[in-house]
Amino acid sequence: MKVIKTIEEMNAWSNACHAKNNTICFVPTMGNLHTGHLSLVDAAKEIADKVVVSIYVNPTQFGENEDLDKYPRTEKQDLKQLESKNVDVVFMPTSDQMYPKGQNGNSSIDYVDVPDLAAKLEGRSRPEHFRGVATIVKKLFDCVLPDHAIFGEKDYQQLLIVKDMVATQKLNVSIHGGAIVRDKGGLAKSSRNQYLSADERKKASILHQTLIAARRKVQSGNVDFTEIETQSIEFINENGFVVDYFSILDADTLDKPGEDNQVILVAANLGKTRLLDNMRVDAPKKP
Ligand code: AMP
Repeated sequence: MKVIKTIEEMNAWSNACHAKNNTICFVPTMGNLHTGHLSLVDAAKEIADKVVVSIYVNPTQFGENEDLDKYPRTEKQDLKQLESKNVDVVFMPTSDQMYPKGQNGNSSIDYVDVPDLAAKLEGRSRPEHFRGVATIVKKLFDCVLPDHAIFGEKDYQQLLIVKDMVATQKLNVSIHGGAIVRDKGGLAKSSRNQYLSADERKKASILHQTLIAARRKVQSGNVDFTEIETQSIEFINENGFVVDYFSILDADTLDKPGEDNQVILVAANLGKTRLLDNMRVDAPKKP
């Protein structure tokens, strides 16, 4: 496994790969890897000849009062895990390379435009977040030159925004979604789960249970989505969370839902930890 730290070397490796007619699948991460990330690596191996994983904690997607400085950095363990998965390249650029003009608060960063759906849900409490995500994904694509890239459905809104960016900018990269990996109780794996106390961790599976219950109601023909949302929010709050949103929406646009193709998305704080989860009502249609 090769560890590459400069854009020039990354570009050169990818160009050499393409010259041999090998395809590349790219898995962007912020490190602190868990089985959710590793499942994307497994999926990437099925998609392309070579797998590149990036580890980069992107400052422009963190708000001022968010946990950029405290974000867990576990390089040694991450590299060990990726080595055991036989990843071809780990790309670990520095911020000087990704943002040569400086980072947050610098008006000369050439941000990527994001669609209206970036202002919804996560975007309401984190207004700059998706602009930062789309910008770093584009920059990383320019470094890695992938044919394919895979993102977790765990961050459902992010996946839609990346797909939109690729379509708008006519990038030649196929975007894939990887299924959510959960722990035994149903809690979606996340680097932020380690902030939960033992007691909170036990409670956290309520999010998944509530999603399943709401999905069952929709599947059984209940079309009063507002009532399902309200009941779900009440139930989660009664269990010690503070819900930010629990919304049943169209799975492609995140607009008002129609009769099918819905997704249910939830964000809630448990103590100081913000947890995200979601569930498609029906299996996504094959393209
Ligand atoms: P992050 O390091 O949090 O930026 O995540 C890197 C990638 O892993 C993103 O595409 C996430 O959506 C994905 N991911 C994070 N948690 C999970 C999970 N529990 N299951 C599947 N994918 C995940």
